[in-house]
Amino acid sequence: MRLRHIPGAEEAIGSSPYVVQEPEKEKGFWGRRFGNHNPIHIEVGMGKGRFIMEMAALHPEINYIGIERYSSVLLRGLEKCSQLELPNIWFLCVDAKTLGEVFDQGEVSRIYLNFSDPWPKDRHAKRRLTSPEFMKVYDQILSREGTVEFKTDNQDLFSYSLESIPEAGWKILEQTRDLHHSPLGEGNVMTEYEMKFAAEGKPICKLIAAR
Ligand code: SAM
Repeated sequence: MRLRHIPGAEEAIGSSPYVVQEPEKEKGFWGRRFGNHNPIHIEVGMGKGRFIMEMAALHPEINYIGIERYSSVLLRGLEKCSQLELPNIWFLCVDAKTLGEVFDQGEVSRIYLNFSDPWPKDRHAKRRLTSPEFMKVYDQILSREGTVEFKTDNQDLFSYSLESIPEAGWKILEQTRDLHHSPLGEGNVMTEYEMKFAAEGKPICKLIAAR
C-alpha cells in the first residue's frame, strides 16, 4: 500500500474511541471488551477496512477486530467507521508479529489475510503474512477448529502460500485461483484492493487453511 504520512495520525489514533490503546491488557478478556462472548474474527493488514466494516455490519453475531500497523492507513478507515457506529468492531494499531501478546491461546476463531504485501524478494520471505513464522503466531491465538482465510491477486504469493502453509503444519481445506467465478466466492465481501484488481480483470485467488 502506498503510504502517505498524515501529520497528526498517531495522535488521532491515540485518542480514537474506536482503537484499543493497550491491547495487551485485553488478552484473555476480549469478550468483556465487546460485552458478549461471540466468536472473534480478525483481519490482519486491514488497510482502510472496507472488508471488515462490511463484515461487521452483515454479521452482528460475530465480534471483529481490524489490525493495521500504520496509523496513517488506519486513520483513513476510522473516518468511515464513525459514520457506521457498529457495536461489534474494534481496531488495533499493532504489528501482526505481536498478536501473541494481544490474544490468549484459542481466543480468535478466524483470521482474514486480504491482499497481504507480497514481499517478492526471497530475503524478505519471513515478512510475508503467510510465512511459517507468521503461521506460528496464528497457531498460538486461533481456536483448534479455527481457520485462516487468505485472498490475493498475486499468483506468486499464492503459490508460495500453498507450500509455506502446509510446511508450517496446516492443511489447505479449499482453494481457487478464480474466486469470482468459483462456488467459494458465494457471499464474498470485497476489500478495497480486490475491487481495484477485479475492475482491472485480474483473477482473485483464495485459500482456507486449518490445522
Ligand atoms: N486488506 C486491505 C485490502 O485488501 O484492501 C489492505 C491490503 S494492503 C496491500 C496490506 C496492508 O497490510 C497494508 O495496509 C499494510 O500496512 C498492512 N500490513 C502489512 N504487514 C503487516 C503487519 N505485519 N502487521 C499489521 N499490518 C500489516
